[in-house]
Amino acid sequence: MKERTGAVILAAGQGKRMHANVAKQFMELGGCPMIVHSLRAFEHSDAVDEIVLVTGEDQIEYCRREIVEAFGFSKVKAVIPGGKERYHSVYEGLKELKRSGQIEYVLIHDGARPLVTEAVIARVAAGAKTFKACVVGMPVKDTIKFCDEEGYGAGTPDRSRLWQIQTPQAFALPLIEEAYRRILSRPEGQDKITDDAMVVEAETDCRVKLIQGDYRNIKVTTPEDILIAEAFLAAGGAKS
Ligand code: C5P
Repeated sequence: MKERTGAVILAAGQGKRMHANVAKQFMELGGCPMIVHSLRAFEHSDAVDEIVLVTGEDQIEYCRREIVEAFGFSKVKAVIPGGKERYHSVYEGLKELKRSGQIEYVLIHDGARPLVTEAVIARVAAGAKTFKACVVGMPVKDTIKFCDEEGYGAGTPDRSRLWQIQTPQAFALPLIEEAYRRILSRPEGQDKITDDAMVVEAETDCRVKLIQGDYRNIKVTTPEDILIAEAFLAAGGAKS
């Protein structure tokens, strides 16, 4: 039987850094709500069988009617409420996929990365089957520095070994579900969780493979990112 792959698409954040009235994932981008671009890429991907959309409690009805039904996303099997932090929302999505009992692999994606492509999704989904844990990213272009508490540089890591990490992040479902279950069962250390790979790194001995994403696969976080995303969309979206 074919191994089935699910996707958890995250849209439960408030997007405070955007300073807008509407949560950033529902802001208009290229003529439709931002989240539609991500959902479209996953809907059209042959590598993905079903999607769980995680959103705010009071945005569930809007998402069902104005997003899933209106745009005909047939792979979306559930629209569920997320939690206070991103990692709570991820765990809710993982539990939902596990409940269906038919999913072996999962791709976790920030709904605020509207420029994800079918090519990136295909690469990371294949990587999950080979490596059990893999994430997309790109080598950093800038020099990165540690900063001390007084605002002085406190060291410069070797740039040739630094990557900026994107989503999707893809895993064998039992591996990531167990890793999240363990880390969330302890009260300490959760506030440092900024991506899914670090949960696997902290809680399992599975190494996480880094594979090539796309410099255009940006996370829309602050107002200037909207301009950049609009420009990329106008130029035909991401390239690889
Ligand atoms: O806030 P940040 O940009 O890191 O959020 C990344 C993604 O996680 C966004 O798509 C956001 O909607 C989602 N998120 C979530 N639940 C939260 C916080 C963020 O689904 N509690």
